[in-house]
Amino acid sequence: AAKRAGGSSFAVFAPSMDQDARLQLELQHDLRTAIERHELELYYQPKVHALSGQITGAEALVRWNHPTRGMISPAVFIPVAERFALISALGYWVIEDACRQVREWLDQGLRMRVAVNLSMQQLRQDDLVPRIRAALERFRIEPSLLTFEITESVAMEDNTLRALGALSGVGVSLSIDDFGTAYSNFAALRKLPAKQLKIDRSLFTDIDESGDALAVVDAMIKMAHALGLKVVAEGVETERQRDLLLALHCDEFQGYLYGRPMPAAMLSLWALGEGETHPVDFRASLYDP
Ligand code: C2E
Ligand code: MG
Ligand code: MG
Ligand code: MG
Repeated sequence: AAKRAGGSSFAVFAPSMDQDARLQLELQHDLRTAIERHELELYYQPKVHALSGQITGAEALVRWNHPTRGMISPAVFIPVAERFALISALGYWVIEDACRQVREWLDQGLRMRVAVNLSMQQLRQDDLVPRIRAALERFRIEPSLLTFEITESVAMEDNTLRALGALSGVGVSLSIDDFGTAYSNFAALRKLPAKQLKIDRSLFTDIDESGDALAVVDAMIKMAHALGLKVVAEGVETERQRDLLLALHCDEFQGYLYGRPMPAAMLSLWALGEGETHPVDFRASLYDP
């Protein structure tokens, strides 16, 4: 239909597609420069133990402060990096900078476990494992201090199982990210060498209003525990969500309620107790289903 309609329909759709393509090209050009000049920065968001509220580690989330466009979300530039073959350089920079930071914290007397996100294309790279080993050695870090987060949809791909096996062979931990946004395939989950499952906030945003949402999350946590996985609720924003998730025996929380992603220097203050803390109260037990 678009073809027969000819010029007029092109006039409607073509410019925005052009603009999008142009924007992508511009972003990939700027991103290339940003990676070379080390203009990216890792922010860290705390994960806390559900019962005590104590920090258990932090997730490294890459930030790009573009000279003219301001802060650009990784949800925008990671796909650009993947499309234009920049993810390898970006990804190795992230892994190495996270390791450098863990070492800096160790030298300050802070044992911080750090989680790093890995995309599909990174998992496919032959030199991934050697590069990780090299970074661990260079910064003299025990592998157990490092976790890699892989989204559920990537982890379930047939051909990633071997890569995940090789990764866990290094001694690092694996975590399944964004669980509940794809297939929620517990049978397949059994085969993965993961220790942690992160349930996506979309599953519990309305958990205080929806009995269905509560039942689904309840079942998920029980299944995960039956498989020996620890459960992290990611994107906890309200005390009510926190209380309900705690009543469902969720193990750890991560979300704006506790702390937003922040520069490394702020995270160390936070971890040393000088930042904001949100001690858990036990009203939660009232909601025990
Ligand atoms: P993700 O790994 O699922 O990370 C969690 C995202 O949820 C982060 O978004 C975080 O800021 C956000 N978040 C945390 N708590 C809350 C909350 O309470 N409410 C809401 N609304 N959001 C919350 P961010 O930093 O924008 O990252 C988006 C995605 O980009 C990440 O999702 C991850 O898939 C990807 N990403 C980020 N850094 C890297 C990286 O270094 N490498 C790769 N491959 N991907 C990365
Ligand atoms: Mg993640
Ligand atoms: Mg996630
Ligand atoms: Mg995500």
